[in-house]
Amino acid sequence: MTFITDYEYTEEQNGHFLRHILQFITKNNISPTPLNYAICYEYISGSNSHLISAVDRLIKEKNTIDNESAIILYKKYICDITFESFDKINQELQSLINHTRDTLDETSQKASDAGVNFEEQAASIASATNTEDITRVIADIVAETKGLANVSQTLKSDLDSANLEMEQLRLELAQVREAADTDALTGLLNRGTFDRSLNSLLEQPDRSEACLSMLDLDYFKKINDNFGHQVGDSVLKFTAKILKKHAESHHLAVRYGGEELAIIMPNTTLKKASEISEKIRSSLENSNLKKRNSNESIGKVTVSIGISSLKSNDTVEDFIMRADNALYKAKETGRNRVITEA
Ligand code: GH3
Ligand code: MG
Ligand code: MG
Repeated sequence: MTFITDYEYTEEQNGHFLRHILQFITKNNISPTPLNYAICYEYISGSNSHLISAVDRLIKEKNTIDNESAIILYKKYICDITFESFDKINQELQSLINHTRDTLDETSQKASDAGVNFEEQAASIASATNTEDITRVIADIVAETKGLANVSQTLKSDLDSANLEMEQLRLELAQVREAADTDALTGLLNRGTFDRSLNSLLEQPDRSEACLSMLDLDYFKKINDNFGHQVGDSVLKFTAKILKKHAESHHLAVRYGGEELAIIMPNTTLKKASEISEKIRSSLENSNLKKRNSNESIGKVTVSIGISSLKSNDTVEDFIMRADNALYKAKETGRNRVITEA
């Protein structure tokens, strides 16, 4: 099985990418294989930041993308864990299906053999002239029926265990899917999911009210410098929990990158988005965070938040840019505050 990544770009965007990819391929002497095209597509479309850095490093080092590196890049940054996991689950499913089919084949063969025998026995009864003959035929029928019952019992337990295994695989698949959409540190949705969700939100024919809240931890570098990176990680996890607590169930809380988080808020007024963001801000400010081992206080941790409200002719970039501008204003005017777009 191959796993193909979903792309949600329009034909026009793809045409635009095509022109840039061709320039990029020519400039860097890259062989135009399908694999290299996929890599350059990810590179030019700009949504896969890890791949972009890896390609930049490779081109700096080798002045091109060679075949060996292309395979590594594709597996690592495009198909990542999902490729191997989906493949493994698929193989398991395949063998489960084969086994169940074999059992069914065997059972139907035995059942049809028994059908033939029953016909013979019916004929024997019709021509039987004494009770001994009849008793013998009945004994045969009983043995035959028992055999059939055993076969169907085996089939039933095989099907039961196949069902259990299927259920297990279904769960594994759901976990793999979830892992592919989620940021490992915070458990929030990841950047890829953010991009896809915003694109589909803006594709809705009738755009209802929606807001985007962008959050950036204040002076986060200092937390890392003063208490170490692990404490920084714990602060990020803690902030993610606050986001999940205050966001509504139809909102999407995301790790946008580094110490920047976001909440996509469909069907939400600017007033409501502002109230939720304010709760997040004050809840973080009032949490007295301590180092786990020493109980040493980390001091006040704060977050700045900018919010934009979707306009009818917004592109994804417009929508993000206005939230970003508001966030910038929140930083500029003293941090630890929520600013809605002008
Ligand atoms: P500002 O108030 O202007 O946002 O200041 P800042 O220090 O938060 O901003 P800056 O962009 O200078 O620094 C962000 C820091 O966040 C730098 C980087 O090391 C840290 N960071 C990014 N991702 C992670 C992470 O996953 N874990 C930890 N511990 N730190 C991270
Ligand atoms: Mg930042
Ligand atoms: Mg920051």
